[in-house]
Amino acid sequence: MQNADVVIIGGGIVGSSIAYHLTAAGCRNVLVIERESSQGKGSTGKSMGGVRAQFSTPVSIQMSLYSIAFYASFDQRLGYPCDYRPQGYLFCGTSEHQMAYLRSNHAQQRKMGLRNVQLMTGAEIARMYPQLRSDDIVGGSFCPTDGFVDPYSAMQGFMSHAAGHGATLWKSTRLTGIVRNANGVTSVETTRGSVSTRKVVNCAGPWAAEVAALAGINLPVHPLRRMLVPTEPFDEFPHTAPMIVDMSNGFHFRPEARGFLLAWNDPEETLELEKTPSFNTDFDPAFVEKILIRAADRVPCFANLPVNPKRGWAGLYEMTPDHHPILGEAPGLPGFYLANGFSGHGVMHAPATGKILSDLILTGKTDKIDASLLNLSRFAEGRLIHETAVL
Ligand SMILES: Cc1cc2nc3c(=O)[nH]c(=O)nc-3n(C[C@H](O)[C@H](O)[C@H](O)COP(=O)(O)OP(=O)(O)OC[C@H]3O[C@@H](n4cnc5c(N)ncnc54)[C@H](O)[C@@H]3O)c2cc1C
Repeated sequence: MQNADVVIIGGGIVGSSIAYHLTAAGCRNVLVIERESSQGKGSTGKSMGGVRAQFSTPVSIQMSLYSIAFYASFDQRLGYPCDYRPQGYLFCGTSEHQMAYLRSNHAQQRKMGLRNVQLMTGAEIARMYPQLRSDDIVGGSFCPTDGFVDPYSAMQGFMSHAAGHGATLWKSTRLTGIVRNANGVTSVETTRGSVSTRKVVNCAGPWAAEVAALAGINLPVHPLRRMLVPTEPFDEFPHTAPMIVDMSNGFHFRPEARGFLLAWNDPEETLELEKTPSFNTDFDPAFVEKILIRAADRVPCFANLPVNPKRGWAGLYEMTPDHHPILGEAPGLPGFYLANGFSGHGVMHAPATGKILSDLILTGKTDKIDASLLNLSRFAEGRLIHETAVL
């Protein structure tokens, strides 16, 4: 039987970041198991790549502060590019209620140490982006160090560095069982044989609940389909623009290559999928018209956006009931660790997650966050902390 100090299930950006942080901390015998023939076929390869610190809860903001600073120095630290582009996130509020929300978030963000986030008036936003229909924009919030990364490159960078420092990646290998005794995990079963280990990390993205079930753990992580529409080249809006969020309906967009990437959470679909979760990742062509209506409403020149519906794609968010991840050792099963349920924020929070999990696995504690806030027990104990800044 093979053996490993730590076995990581899932070679997406989260598993790769944990492998990187473990090996960087000196833990050499790390095995990553990925069921697909290549990395990135889960949520990571479908992501919009947005990174932001403009959240509402202290713990989300803390995770972003670590992660964004990490992405800003990714190339120097790892010797691989992650294509961090600090073009910002601009939230546009269209009611006093939304402005009160942004003001309260802004105060929390400043308190947590985010110095460069700023509130803006409607007139300032209109001056900054005259292409926006701004008659109903009351004001907004902008942070210039928010922006975008290339999730696939970051994942590759993490895994390549980890592989150069002792980690092994088994592709086309599925986890099929987790073996335990009274003291905790003893080994895992895979399609490539058994591996003896005392520590296993669940990094299975939207499929995390299935992996947890193999260990007899009930994990409240549900898949939720999200669709993105890239446009063809389009020059009537600046390509230096930030991620712009229309808070009236949740439509948001950012520059991508010579065009733009459009996103919108269809509330009808969300309601339906919350009732009946599904792993379906088919792109619905009818979505294109729905999103273009929102796009042209906020950015009149987007009425001329060239879009090839065949280029749209869908992927899965991994949702938890309070929209925060579940991190740390599972209660009642020593050696079984969770890094799941990022609720749409797994790329931007991957660096912090890697550091936190590496700390918890190797030393049992971390100073990056109060890890008890995000443990699985919070659901049974009624300690949910709701993140509302979810796109
Ligand atoms: C359309 C869309 C837009 C998004 N936009 C953003 C964004 O702007 N910013 C952001 O931060 N996040 C965004 N996200 C969310 C982000 O992509 C995810 O939170 C993140 O990729 C999760 O990474 P992961 O490594 O946990 O999961 P994944 O990338 O899904 O990786 C999990 C891996 O586990 C493997 N696996 C599963 N079961 C097994 C098994 N039994 N055995 C072996 N391997 C297994 C899978 O094959 C997969 O490769 C977006 C997601 C979508 C769908």
